[in-house]
Amino acid sequence: MVVDYLVIGQGISGTWLSYYLEKANRSFVVIDNDNPNSASRVAAGIINPVTGRRIVKTWMIDVLLSFIVPAYEELGKELGLKAIDQKSLIDFHPTPQMKMAFDERVKENADFLFQPKDQWQYQQTFNYDFGYGEVDPCYVVNLKEILPAWRKKLLFNNQLLEEDFEIAELDHSNNGVNYKSIKADKIIFCDGINSSQNPFFKNLPFALNKGEVILIESPGIPSTNIFKKGMMLTSIEKGLYWIGSNYLWEFPDDQPTEQFRKQTELLLKTWLKVHFKIVDHKASVRPANIERRPFIGFHPTYKNIGIVNGMGTKGCSLAPWFAKQLTDHLIYKKEIPAEADIKRFTKILTR
Ligand SMILES: Cc1cc2nc3c(=O)[nH]c(=O)nc-3n(C[C@H](O)[C@H](O)[C@H](O)COP(=O)(O)OP(=O)(O)OC[C@H]3O[C@@H](n4cnc5c(N)ncnc54)[C@H](O)[C@@H]3O)c2cc1C
Repeated sequence: MVVDYLVIGQGISGTWLSYYLEKANRSFVVIDNDNPNSASRVAAGIINPVTGRRIVKTWMIDVLLSFIVPAYEELGKELGLKAIDQKSLIDFHPTPQMKMAFDERVKENADFLFQPKDQWQYQQTFNYDFGYGEVDPCYVVNLKEILPAWRKKLLFNNQLLEEDFEIAELDHSNNGVNYKSIKADKIIFCDGINSSQNPFFKNLPFALNKGEVILIESPGIPSTNIFKKGMMLTSIEKGLYWIGSNYLWEFPDDQPTEQFRKQTELLLKTWLKVHFKIVDHKASVRPANIERRPFIGFHPTYKNIGIVNGMGTKGCSLAPWFAKQLTDHLIYKKEIPAEADIKRFTKILTR
């Protein structure tokens, strides 16, 4: 098989990269092993435009939202599903001090933060003592449906191989790459945490971060919002809710822990006034890094070996835009934004 590009991984990064390569009429094949515990398959898909105790806007959020919302809508249209939902975030204040801090920030961030007219409108469903603030717009990306639907389309078009990619089988030169029976001009790694072990990219400053989530069924929680009290709670399909997550920089393995389950069950028991049933518990590892900026571009020495990675906690908002940047770089020689271009690590990548 001869193609322009070989893409490794079909999480949210590989999905968007292959989507834009297809739009640019380039030939490609994706290799993905369908790991059910990959970050994109465990994530809720929440896009929250603000972050931290100081409730500031996240990096590039205005640019990202204006690009990604129509992009997800377009992808959804093509796949016959609703790819993105706008929901406001109901942020329950844990203390009176946090309420005051939120109210202060509303004045400075009037495009995203709001004080509700009725502080107590969720009292039937949740226990809370200090009211809430509202973050709007937030979004939930329908990863649960997008990933398999895009995969199905790729399979149908003979553009996806469901198998493990084995790096020992890769040959590369200035003229292109060979992998088993595939010849391609370039290979692009969108393989999440596996790139941190990859001989070409393992020197990038990955700082992997584990997170766990619990899935619950509940008949009484509104599906129209995302709710936050320590953790985020959101509907991911009718009657099914996702609650998470924690952020661990040190961890012995990528498995769910009893400790997280107990802690989350306790939180749910004290927070929810409605009945719930735990139906699943998952864990995954985020392809995060110290700088909290993506890793996009081509290896400084091996020009045919590229990467779309380092999405950290924000794959749903970063992946579409940066996959498009890499595609425009390939097709139109457009510069990759400097903060994301792996050129910034030339020294450590050429060591
Ligand atoms: C608990 C948790 C909650 C999260 N919640 C959110 C959220 O709400 N919103 C948000 O924006 N982000 C969230 N994230 C972060 C988000 O999941 C990541 O930023 C994003 O999924 C990274 O996507 P990716 O495609 O780069 O990598 P991955 O999702 O890891 O995808 C890599 C793909 O490559 C495949 N692969 C890897 N190695 C091989 C190989 N050797 N051969 C074949 N295939 C291979 C895997 O099967 C996988 O399909 C969360 C992460 C976690 C862990």
